Amino acid sequence: MNRDEIIRLLGTTDADEVRALFQAADEERRGSVGDDVHFRGIIEFSNYCERNCLYCGLRRGNKAIARYRIPDDEILELAGSVRDLGIGTVVLQAGEDPTHSTGYICRLISRIKKATGLIITLSIGERPYEDYRAFKAAGADRYLLKHETVSPELYQRLHPDSKYDNRIQCLRWLKSLGYETGAGNMVGLPGQTLKILAEDILLMHEMDIDMIGIGPFIAHQDTPLAHTVSGEPDTVLKMIAVTRLVTRNTNIPATTALAVLDHGLQLKALTAGANVIMPDITPPRYKELYEIYPGRGKLSCDISAVIARWETDLHGIGRRIGRGPGGRR
Ligand code: SAH
Ligand code: SF4
Repeated sequence: MNRDEIIRLLGTTDADEVRALFQAADEERRGSVGDDVHFRGIIEFSNYCERNCLYCGLRRGNKAIARYRIPDDEILELAGSVRDLGIGTVVLQAGEDPTHSTGYICRLISRIKKATGLIITLSIGERPYEDYRAFKAAGADRYLLKHETVSPELYQRLHPDSKYDNRIQCLRWLKSLGYETGAGNMVGLPGQTLKILAEDILLMHEMDIDMIGIGPFIAHQDTPLAHTVSGEPDTVLKMIAVTRLVTRNTNIPATTALAVLDHGLQLKALTAGANVIMPDITPPRYKELYEIYPGRGKLSCDISAVIARWETDLHGIGRRIGRGPGGRR
């Protein structure tokens, strides 16, 4: 699909056409990545952040939240529980915490790898090339770094003290180092157009991105975007569907941000091209402080119950929980 075709599909409100789009994406998903839905257990191990992204509740300018770091031994225990739940991948996510030295992160990765053998995905923001290389050597397998938006102007407005070019450079480094690399965007950012969204998809395709996280922007009360309208679920679903059709065999999560808007939306995403679920296994006392956007606290913390419910829900749509690493084919 070229840019104009994508823009037209993202903009359609014709119910029959939307249905046909979701069906085509679902067929592509079945053919390219199969019926397995891969689970990734996320541990949000620090909510300290040096950056000041306008949309995010963890931005350094937000003095209204208490900050935490989960102690290493507890992180290790949580990783063990991911393995015990039969999930093949652990995702370590955090703000850009200045105390996370290269050595600290490497030690954490190698301890988790040694103790659990899990696939390790990092999501700790922009770092120098040498850090990414060291993390890989220590045992990290994948890296999530959403590009957020393909528009340099919009990126600059949302991140006054960071550089769009550096974000893209980081993604290219990660790919070149052999990480399975994740990018993605937020839908509904102020000033975003369908043309920008179409170019988001084309950028990820061109960069051969392996994992693609697309979620709604959700306004956070303690940020400069407090009074902005949040993203439209329908546009997110159409983005997921078109992304599946364009990128074919990538791993695409039904994002947690969708579940915050409405539980049913994640299941809907799974029938419109998505094939990954990322349950949050951060203990409640930390999780409620990891408020990148509001509403996460209302999601269930009983992880065994969450997985049992998914088993039933997935069965209902003819799918099953995937076993093993669940990397990109
Ligand atoms: N600090 C790391 C990882 C944590 S933030 C990083 O920024 O890469 C993870 C993701 O949360 C970001 O990539 C962003 O897309 C998303 N996010 C932050 N604030 C959000 C909001 N208000 N609504 C929706 N998603 C948000
Ligand atoms: Fe920090 Fe990531 Fe939030 Fe930006 S999006 S403020 S880098 S946690």
